[in-house]
Amino acid sequence: MIYLITHSFPAAFIAALGSVFPDFVEFVFWGGYVPRYAHRKASHWPLPYLVLAALTFYYTANPFAFAMSWFSVGCLLHIAEDALTGKVPLLSPRRRSFGVRLFRTGSMPEMILAVILVALAIKTLFATHYRFTTMRLDALLHTTGLP
Ligand SMILES: [Zn+2]
Repeated sequence: MIYLITHSFPAAFIAALGSVFPDFVEFVFWGGYVPRYAHRKASHWPLPYLVLAALTFYYTANPFAFAMSWFSVGCLLHIAEDALTGKVPLLSPRRRSFGVRLFRTGSMPEMILAVILVALAIKTLFATHYRFTTMRLDALLHTTGLP
């Protein structure tokens, strides 16, 4: 998804790591079993990630800030996606107050949305790659003196 917007591999990779972080940290914290009452609570509270994103946004020339910036964007996207399938905290980390239950996790519309996003990402990837290849071919043809 980030790849669609930025066409940057490092950014997309780090954001992908960030997008699994909120569930991952929950899993590690609870030792593999997350009680229902704890799921999507503090780890899914957008404020810390928003603060991190805001703090690092203007310093992306620095590699660490760059990584942290995209990492927090990944986390925020994860929370946004969770907010489409249920509720996540908004004002307080202890209350899930925000979200619309647009789809149920694992439901058909969610699957379709995921497939569309993946297809778009693949298409973008191929489009950039193709442009890159034709550019190289042009340069190669030029050096050989062919038209
Ligand atoms: Zn989650």
